[in-house]
Amino acid sequence: MTYSARGMRRACEGVVIGNVQVGGGAPVVVQSMTNTDTADVEGTARQIAELARAGSELVRITVDRGEAAKAVPHIRDRVRAIGLVTPIAGDFHYNGHTLLEENPACADALDKYRINPGNVGFGGKKDRNFGVMIETALKYEKPVRIGVNWGSLDQALLTQLMEENAKAAEPRDAREVMHEAVIQSGLLSAERAKVLGLGADRIVISAKCSEVQDLIAVYRGLAARCTYALHLGLTEAGMGSKGIVASATALGVLLQEGIGDTIRISLTPEPGGDRTREVIVAQEILQTMGLRSFAPMVIACPGCGRTTSTTFQELAQDIQTYVRARMPDWRETYPGFETLQLAVMGCIVNGPGESKHADIGISLPGTGELPSAPVYIDGKKVKTLRGENIGAQFKDIVETYVRDRWGA
Ligand code: SF4
Repeated sequence: MTYSARGMRRACEGVVIGNVQVGGGAPVVVQSMTNTDTADVEGTARQIAELARAGSELVRITVDRGEAAKAVPHIRDRVRAIGLVTPIAGDFHYNGHTLLEENPACADALDKYRINPGNVGFGGKKDRNFGVMIETALKYEKPVRIGVNWGSLDQALLTQLMEENAKAAEPRDAREVMHEAVIQSGLLSAERAKVLGLGADRIVISAKCSEVQDLIAVYRGLAARCTYALHLGLTEAGMGSKGIVASATALGVLLQEGIGDTIRISLTPEPGGDRTREVIVAQEILQTMGLRSFAPMVIACPGCGRTTSTTFQELAQDIQTYVRARMPDWRETYPGFETLQLAVMGCIVNGPGESKHADIGISLPGTGELPSAPVYIDGKKVKTLRGENIGAQFKDIVETYVRDRWGA
């Protein structure tokens, strides 16, 4: 196994989706999906806007019935009317062929169609339904994602591979056969789309599984056997820290090997939770791996018995919030600020060292230390903050640094 240097990607086709390119040497694209009823035009347009403003570069919406298909052009119009150009992809299962055929305005309004080859029909209908969707993509010049999912795998293909395996001289483990079925489902469908006339530069493949090791095995196999752009994501990742850890673990391994051209983090939101969390997590995975920069990073130590006050935790949180709040203005005025690195440290043990590695770092006093906080800029100690308003003083330093470094 060879591992890529930072930023080195697997060579693959580039697919243009609206104003975004996936693969073909482009940076890894962050995408997300709404969880509103698509028939609710206002609610869906609002959530697309929230996701786009959080940094989602492509947003997928489900198109599950006639009312949803009819709503799609209106959703697109509302999103464009507020100045957002984020591509909108339609997610189709079971009846996608019918919905696209009967709703040409929907077919035209979407920037991409997601087709699940396990959910397009059975027997002879499967090829016909799939063909209708590809012909629609050709007619409206849209790219497609062949989106295989472990949970809705083409059962006929799986049965066929299992039977062949049972007759083999040295049968493989059933799990390996399942991996092969996931890979083949994607590749065979993509080949069929090509036979129907869709170029490889209009095809993205995904092959999502819910277990980390399965996902890694499947995507390694897929990457070795094709040059299609790959959409990467752990399906049904779960809630809270479990979903984040599982996604980061699986995607971290694959991205490090140069595999994955667009990612989605499928987090289950807490009831009433913020859907944009999946966008932030996707960005943080890419940024912590050094693949892209989206927002200044605040490095903070975990704290320990050497700092029994909550001062440094409060300052770290305060600075993180401040930076997020300033980002819309900074984005307009200071291009490149996204690479800013800040360190907020709890005591003298690692504080000065870590602060010197950051663009700006502050080492707060631990228990028993003098009540002063040295500040480091570009590796050099520049001043020492004291008193009640260290947070405000530190923010002034950050603001000045950003202006001086990235201002025109
Ligand atoms: S920097 Fe100091 S306070 Fe923070 S974890 Fe290390 S020893 Fe503890």
